[in-house]
Amino acid sequence: MIKDQGIRDKIRKIASGQVIFDEPMYLHTSMGVGGKTDILVSPGTVEELKSITAYLAECNIPFLPVGNCTNLIVRDGGYRGAIISLKSLEKIELEEVQGENVYICAEAGTFLSRLIDLSIRESLSGMEFCAGIPGSVGGGIKMNAGAYGRELKDIVKKVSLINSDGIVKEIPRDDLQFEYRNLDLPERSIVVSATFGLRKGSKEKIQEEVLEILRTRRKKHPLNYRTAGSVFKNPRSMPAGKIIEELGLKGFHVGDAEISKIHGNFIINLGKAKAGDILTLIDTVQKTVLKERRIPLEPEIKIIGED
Ligand SMILES: Cc1cc2nc3c(=O)[nH]c(=O)nc-3n(C[C@H](O)[C@H](O)[C@H](O)COP(=O)(O)OP(=O)(O)OC[C@H]3O[C@@H](n4cnc5c(N)ncnc54)[C@H](O)[C@@H]3O)c2cc1C
Repeated sequence: MIKDQGIRDKIRKIASGQVIFDEPMYLHTSMGVGGKTDILVSPGTVEELKSITAYLAECNIPFLPVGNCTNLIVRDGGYRGAIISLKSLEKIELEEVQGENVYICAEAGTFLSRLIDLSIRESLSGMEFCAGIPGSVGGGIKMNAGAYGRELKDIVKKVSLINSDGIVKEIPRDDLQFEYRNLDLPERSIVVSATFGLRKGSKEKIQEEVLEILRTRRKKHPLNYRTAGSVFKNPRSMPAGKIIEELGLKGFHVGDAEISKIHGNFIINLGKAKAGDILTLIDTVQKTVLKERRIPLEPEIKIIGED
């Protein structure tokens, strides 16, 4: 815990957005689990973000950027350090139009759903596959979010990163190390914004594709419960959900954490699940799949904090 009043006052002075100390993370994660973080701070501008990271580094306080916390489990003991929420950085700019190509720059906290709305409004094609992914641009880029055979790496043109020295640099797509559900970033780097390349298209077609994807998601995913999306990365051989289903693990639960009966790769919070229940469930699935199929399942969700 950070009780030093000097540190608390300084952080409050730097950030114009929300600053909360000892904040329970179950109030913020999509799974509704997680202990207290020492600091939850939301910078209002990129300049504030720079000052906050510099100050935290100076005080030797660990920090972690988050967007919408839809891919995040915070352990029940909480996070010792500062969780930096980028939610207030949500500016969108039309960067350039070159014939049919349109470049859109969005700050890290922008919800992907806002970009989808914009692309429908402006008849821009390319982002439809992101429909229904509840994350932010920063979280999406870090996770290389994707669906239906496409990933953000396919449409990103450049990413602005703030490095550990507080310097913001624009990195072109070709210099970024994207992989399946990950962008390899140097330690303490934070995505500040990303530029996407979209194409002018037919508004009706774009809208219909988005609606079709949302319909499919409603059918296939347990959207009435709190979840963090797919828990495990898909191994090459077969989707993780299919393996889990074949092993009869659907419906298996630890406390209020349950493997969804609708989709084997989703864990749902039936109400009062703790992070510990979810982690025990994850461990059980991993051990069972390794024993029965000799496949090591790797979590897609990010797990942080202390037990
Ligand atoms: C119902 C549901 C459906 C989903 N469907 C999909 C899907 O189809 N495809 C898919 O890929 N994902 C899916 N997800 C998972 C999740 O929405 C995505 O991974 C999303 O991109 C995470 O964004 P976020 O802003 O919530 O990130 P967070 O959960 O806040 O963070 C995730 C990780 O990114 C890091 N991070 C966040 N912001 C930044 C930043 N600015 N700079 C550097 N690192 C950062 C965090 O430190 C953390 O390690 C789904 C989730 C749910 C709940």
